[in-house]
Amino acid sequence: MSKNELLDAIAAEVIVCPKCRLSKSRKNAVPGEGSPDSLIMFIGEAPGYWEDMKGKPFVGAAGRFLTVLIAEVGFSRSDVFITNVVRCRPPKNREPLPDEIETCTPYLNRQIKLIKPKFIVTLGNQSTAYIFSQANLPFSGITQARGKFCEASLLGIKITVFPTFHPAAALYSAKYKEQITKDFQLLKEELIKRGNAKR
Ligand code: SF4
Repeated sequence: MSKNELLDAIAAEVIVCPKCRLSKSRKNAVPGEGSPDSLIMFIGEAPGYWEDMKGKPFVGAAGRFLTVLIAEVGFSRSDVFITNVVRCRPPKNREPLPDEIETCTPYLNRQIKLIKPKFIVTLGNQSTAYIFSQANLPFSGITQARGKFCEASLLGIKITVFPTFHPAAALYSAKYKEQITKDFQLLKEELIKRGNAKR
């Protein structure tokens, strides 16, 4: 099976997954989407209203901002892989609970192992906490962690982890919007420095 077919197989499992309580309230599970050969994976927290409606990641207002940020780094959405820590929308957009994260993240781990990205950009507290825990990196909150490149061994793969705020934070705070934009500028500079920039 090709990488693409294996990713499709994971997505097919996610779409009908009954493994946690979020399956009861979702409209559509959101497996994630993008290139199987992606240099960068973007990992958010959980689907929101529009993601649940459409079954695609980051398609609401926060998603539109993420798309702009990705373009500023020099990539399109189809060049990268975008997903979340949990794949079904928590009711009323509450944070996913620890047992939901534990039940759902094997899907994320399988996607990471298949894609083997050089960079993982974690978007927000929950995804950063999860990826840092998997990489045995100390984590004391997204405010401290953001904007720093962390060299990690994650699931047996050498990956640079780069945390920033969730793009939804930029929708209600100009300060967060400025900081996220600065972080993506740092990401662009690092990609150029390492010869990984697309253009
Ligand atoms: S959140 Fe994850 S584990 Fe829970 S039902 Fe959805 S896909 Fe399955």
